[in-house]
Amino acid sequence: MKSNDWDVLISSVQIQEAIRKLGAELTEIYSGKKIVVIPLLKGGFMFAADLVRSMGIDLQIEFLGAASYGEQTRSSGEVRLTLDTTLPLADRDVLLVEDIVDTGLTLAYIQQLIRSRNPASLRTVVLLDKKTRRQVDVDLHECVFSIPDRFVFGYGLDSPGGFGRNLPDIVALKD
Ligand code: 5GP
Repeated sequence: MKSNDWDVLISSVQIQEAIRKLGAELTEIYSGKKIVVIPLLKGGFMFAADLVRSMGIDLQIEFLGAASYGEQTRSSGEVRLTLDTTLPLADRDVLLVEDIVDTGLTLAYIQQLIRSRNPASLRTVVLLDKKTRRQVDVDLHECVFSIPDRFVFGYGLDSPGGFGRNLPDIVALKD
């Protein structure tokens, strides 16, 4: 895919500035606590890597992986767990870090899974929110950017061909 196939929607400078702000807020919210941060893979890995480095508290990292069957740019809503945590989450303060919420079905599934393990608290931060596409209600505590209903990739998210996760900006496919 060539760079004239996409537009830059959110630049790396805007992303880094917003994440520093969010990291400072979360540092205050969790002050004095030892939390478990769970990036949701694959797309959440880059956002989580920058976010944890902007948080000045003790934290552990666990991973959850989810994928949904579907066409290249639309999810079917049928979610599969591709990777599970190794630490018990009971009585822990859990921060779930997700790249993008579209219909909400993936997040609803993952939140239900974490809640079934009885954490002391669960907070969800999302980098990108496609509000107009929502099919189910999900608890979003912090959402960094609201975006229009366009297929986006870069900064952790993949293009329809499975590449593009290493772009520093978030870009949108041209119609
Ligand atoms: P949902 O279950 O909320 O419909 O979709 C969430 C998942 O679909 C995300 O975790 C992501 O993997 C994928 N997804 C939704 N919209 C986009 C998009 O615009 N770009 C990319 N790369 N993935 C998306």
